[in-house]
Amino acid sequence: MKVFKFGGASLKSASAIQNAVRIIKSHAGEKLLVVVSAIGKTTNALEEILTLYRENGPWPAAFNQLKKYHLDIAVELFAQSNHLQQKLDQVFQSIETEIERLDEYDLVYDQVISQGEIISSLIVAEALNQSQVFCQWIDAREYILTDNTHREGKVDWMATEEKIKNLHLILEKNVILTQGFIGRSNNGLTTTLGREGSDFSAAIFGTCLDAESVTIWKDVPGVMNADPKRLPAAVVFSELPFREAAEMTYYGASVIHPKTIKPLANRDIPLLVKNFDDPSLPGTRIHECKVDAIPPLIVFKDNQCLVSCHVTDYTFINEEHLRIIFHALSELDIKINMMQNSAVSFSFCIDFRESKISKLIGQLQHHFEVYYNTGLTLITVKNYDEAAFETYRKKKGVLLEQSSRSTLQVLIKPDRAG
Ligand code: ASP
Ligand code: MG
Repeated sequence: MKVFKFGGASLKSASAIQNAVRIIKSHAGEKLLVVVSAIGKTTNALEEILTLYRENGPWPAAFNQLKKYHLDIAVELFAQSNHLQQKLDQVFQSIETEIERLDEYDLVYDQVISQGEIISSLIVAEALNQSQVFCQWIDAREYILTDNTHREGKVDWMATEEKIKNLHLILEKNVILTQGFIGRSNNGLTTTLGREGSDFSAAIFGTCLDAESVTIWKDVPGVMNADPKRLPAAVVFSELPFREAAEMTYYGASVIHPKTIKPLANRDIPLLVKNFDDPSLPGTRIHECKVDAIPPLIVFKDNQCLVSCHVTDYTFINEEHLRIIFHALSELDIKINMMQNSAVSFSFCIDFRESKISKLIGQLQHHFEVYYNTGLTLITVKNYDEAAFETYRKKKGVLLEQSSRSTLQVLIKPDRAG
């Protein structure tokens, strides 16, 4: 069996959904499970609605706009579909109810934001059935079971695998359509798996069903060695070893969600990244392989913050200082993207998340003189050659630089960069 995943961009309009249906239809003779994420930028819109609600802002206008966006797509796709209309109305009603919950933010977030995937899957299921691809809609929350960490649910793999295995029976007869990004905690509430987590959902289904492959349909021709919007000369990899792809996601390449590779690599299930506008393009195959000459891979990670902790009492940076810093980072669940020390200071680069950073700095100020700099870009050049090494080291505005035999990282202040 195979698993397909369609992201928001590949479902953003009626014609995009029809295109997804065509792709699915051309594989309908095979055993297939399809994972969809929310349509277009729905997840961002739902986040905004929830924020507005919590801040007593004009949320109904944003809510009605989102509802209209979906209903317009449904009308364009189906001249008449009263039962779908009813189902969508119910989901939008449930958003209005969930938004009013008085529980903590992250819990409410999951109950509200997850509805984007439910809506999208109802529309795509209807589109499939109308074009004679008989599919069974299933609720992913009945299959992907997690702990109760809201917004970053940790998968209970044993229980999840046991549930998902039951789907083999349905796959004998029908295509299965389900949602990405969402699961259920052991106290029965909806959890989400982290932003952009639908790729991970596809990997979970693929792993538990022992799929022959998992395909992610995207708006790019495959995995590229750089973002073509930034570097027009970027090239597509025809194949990549699992390890290489996993490391790319670690450095911030957004083409695949970071958690996607590990479960597939462990079971040796290839991950294919294909172009939804032109399915005849070969795309990229991520699998166990040896690739001789991998071109330099260049990843830009914006919105970085450089924090420097200086000791003030003429001692040098020692292990006790590092313990304090790492303890604070680990307590706040902050990941370091790059770090460096000198005799009297320790500097590290992290993603800028305002609330976390102010807490972190508050804690570190008890022990150090702390400076920080925001709005930075971290450029990672993996498998660099001489030309790439020189180009990126010589960028203007470099604040921090580090290299190993395979990887160069430079942190720059972009407005001063050339
Ligand atoms: N809809 C979710 C998001 O935008 C999950 C996904 O697209 O993978 O984060
Ligand atoms: Mg998405």
